[in-house]
Amino acid sequence: MNPKNLHPETLSAQAMGWVDERTRAITPPIHVSSTYLRDPDNQYRSGRVYARADNPAFDQPEALLCALEHGHQALLFSSGMAAATAVFQALQPGDHVLAPKVMYWSLRNWLMTFATSWGLQVELIDMTDPAALRAALRPGKTRLVWIETPANPLWTVTDIAATVELAHAAGALVAVDSTVPTPVLTQPLTLGADIVMHAATKYLNGHSDLIAGALVTREDSDHWQKVRKVRAQIGGTLGSFEAWLLQRGMRTLHVRVAAACASAQKIAEHFHGHPLVAEVLYPGLPTAAGHAIAARQMRGGFGGMLSIRAKGNAHVSGEQAAVGVAAHTEIWKRATSLGGTESLIEHRASVEGAGTPAPTDLLRLSVGLEHADDLIQDMENALEKGHHQ
Ligand SMILES: *Cc1c(COP(=O)(O)O)cnc(C)c1O
Repeated sequence: MNPKNLHPETLSAQAMGWVDERTRAITPPIHVSSTYLRDPDNQYRSGRVYARADNPAFDQPEALLCALEHGHQALLFSSGMAAATAVFQALQPGDHVLAPKVMYWSLRNWLMTFATSWGLQVELIDMTDPAALRAALRPGKTRLVWIETPANPLWTVTDIAATVELAHAAGALVAVDSTVPTPVLTQPLTLGADIVMHAATKYLNGHSDLIAGALVTREDSDHWQKVRKVRAQIGGTLGSFEAWLLQRGMRTLHVRVAAACASAQKIAEHFHGHPLVAEVLYPGLPTAAGHAIAARQMRGGFGGMLSIRAKGNAHVSGEQAAVGVAAHTEIWKRATSLGGTESLIEHRASVEGAGTPAPTDLLRLSVGLEHADDLIQDMENALEKGHHQ
């Protein structure tokens, strides 16, 4: 198969058309070896030495993700956090980095604690505002701009191409957490970003049964070579079984993401203006602040993630109503994470604690593959019960 001539759906469904040469198996074997035989003349012509650095189980998912993102090379990691932190660990203490105020909470937390005490100068800005970015960039000093779009848990939208233009002019790399749009909806490297990161735990795998992460680079660079070393040396390496599950999950990526987008759009429109809902946050709503940018840089849908803000009344605050709604859903499962086949609901302020940008009345929704009408009915019931406590 020549990936250049084929649609991404075709590449995913067949994991690039790969067939095992020895057995003719159309799904790959699971390689579990931790070490590889050295040639008698002391060489390693197989290209593999030890499974902390390399594993044939990575070949297919890495090649597929690289093709879907139009990148130069992909690397799997043991988690999304291992992938994201490798991008920062490949910098030097003293380097200046910019990240959004609204972003995946655990990474923001790591940046403000561990990374800062290691010596990175981390500055959080409103990444949706180009003027704020322009003011914060320090030419020659800022090494990296980290963006997430649409961003957890408010689903604010950042213009990738505009961010790249400003960051590159100042000599900074741009890395994009693209977990939520997936390569199905957005390909940040084609918009000029240098690195794209995925919590493969989420949509790429899609079945809530493994933890994995990935990075894809647009081109080789000193920074990328350091990222490779971080994985090989610190050892945030994915296991063989998880890599196998991931390549299986990715075969259905396009149908899952399309279905989640269609349901999320329907659910967002249904609850927009609902008497018990203060606000629906979803970039697919024409009223969303980032809708026009999202429409430009997301193709085929606006993602499977949205948030709703519960409306308080004379008897319950917005926060009490939100927690009450989550208590009464039956189909929507109360759990963290996203991107699985089952729909999830979460009161983010409880999870994120002090300093969160999440309003206390906000419920984050990950739309799964159930029928949208069942999800809407379940939410209607829970909204009614949550407001009568
Ligand atoms: C889950 C998630 C991460 C972290 O991934 P893990 O696999 O849980 O380490 C990073 N970014 C986003 C947007 C996520 O949803």
